[in-house]
Amino acid sequence: MKKITLFIFSALVILMGVLFYNYFKNAPDKSIQVLPRTDISSINGYKERVAKALTYQTVSYEDTSLIDYNTFLEFHKYLQSTFPIIFENLTLETVNKYSILLKWSGSNPQLKPGILMAHQDVVPVSEDTKDLWRFPPFEGIIKDDTLFGRGSIDNKANLISQLEAINFLLQQNFKPQRDIYFVFGHDEEIGGKQGALAVAQLLKSRNIQADFVLDEGGYVSTGIVPGVTRPVALVGTAEKGFLNLELSVNIDGGHSSMPNKDNAINTLSKALVNLSNTPFPSSISPSVQSFMAHVSPHSSFINRLAMSNLWLFKPLIYNIYSQTAPGDAMIRTTMVPTIIKGGEKDNVIPNIAVANINYRINSGTTIQDVIDHTTKAINNPLVHISMKSQGQEATGVSPVNTESFQHISSSVASNFENSITTPFLMIAGTDSKHFDIVSQNIYKFSPLANPYGFHAVNEYLNLKDYKNTIGFYVDFIKKL
Ligand SMILES: [Zn+2]
Repeated sequence: MKKITLFIFSALVILMGVLFYNYFKNAPDKSIQVLPRTDISSINGYKERVAKALTYQTVSYEDTSLIDYNTFLEFHKYLQSTFPIIFENLTLETVNKYSILLKWSGSNPQLKPGILMAHQDVVPVSEDTKDLWRFPPFEGIIKDDTLFGRGSIDNKANLISQLEAINFLLQQNFKPQRDIYFVFGHDEEIGGKQGALAVAQLLKSRNIQADFVLDEGGYVSTGIVPGVTRPVALVGTAEKGFLNLELSVNIDGGHSSMPNKDNAINTLSKALVNLSNTPFPSSISPSVQSFMAHVSPHSSFINRLAMSNLWLFKPLIYNIYSQTAPGDAMIRTTMVPTIIKGGEKDNVIPNIAVANINYRINSGTTIQDVIDHTTKAINNPLVHISMKSQGQEATGVSPVNTESFQHISSSVASNFENSITTPFLMIAGTDSKHFDIVSQNIYKFSPLANPYGFHAVNEYLNLKDYKNTIGFYVDFIKKL
């Protein structure tokens, strides 16, 4: 009896030792210096300039025949007339007519260039939500130091604030050491193939390998990471993949007065239920693991203990993360039906029922894995599964032990008070996914504090924080 007690006691001591060793090993990163931010108080009129940018209805539609390309050219004219010294000092190229590539030549050709990105296009405002907007979405209206409108945060704030930063630095006679490219795509919201992808291919054809790419992505958020009270700047170091699968069932229908046991709608419905009852397994991808290593030292005691000891607490972490939609999306491939069609008449059983399933693919899972999982979950040969378009595999993971990631962290620290920077997994798509042919260090971060309304009604930009956005890019570019 004594021996057993002693054994249990020793095991507990060892366990506690390991838990606390990992707890303290995972210490806050002290390498980030919080330098004073550059004084940019001389920049005036910046609120009006970003507001005006929203009045250009650079809307992307899946049906490209609906796109008013002329507006993009008008928007280019607006940029040129608003920031003339930029266009005198930097070299402008347009790619596929509407995407902008600006090159700011550096003094040291030995250094690899850097690339900053943003996109010009915005998602449409659907007819049925027009009345729900507090202010018309394309008028750039400022109320109580808040700019309302489509594109305010996605993504014209990034685009215009980068230009504000270049403009300011040119006025200070700043000259970068390395070449800096600015890439402003025109079709990000519909996949970026004509814009960002074409620009990446152009740079690749010129043998340009960039030190880093910084595109839109995560942002500075308060209260979103459980157990962390400080503002957290989320820098995407990997991006989930994307796929649409069409499920279709084709069974003879007939008259609704004498229904057969099986019909297309019922069979499809069962398939959808089976699929939703079979979620993809949870896993902690490298970027999420790196996220936990960065935030855990700033978390509450229990969270830090758990995140520092994933070998023991993984099930607990999965449980916590799967409680919320954004958390769940971090730990697995997600899937959701987004379109369902079948039937036209009250008293006719349709022959065909069709559904679209939208997937966001986790790092480590492939498109083929998704198809296999779906086929197995549905397990019914009557349900035909097909790919609607090519899909996009999840990206690789960018390292965080790079100079450019350090520059992001320290520029965040200077401009967003008391904040910490962490890598994370980007669950939505960005143009930078096309740049893996040009750089291995791709970071997805929008220097915006608690933005509201991506693709939503009443999208707005808090203008008080927007000055920090400009400040971030000024400091970041100076560090390059
Ligand atoms: Zn965007």
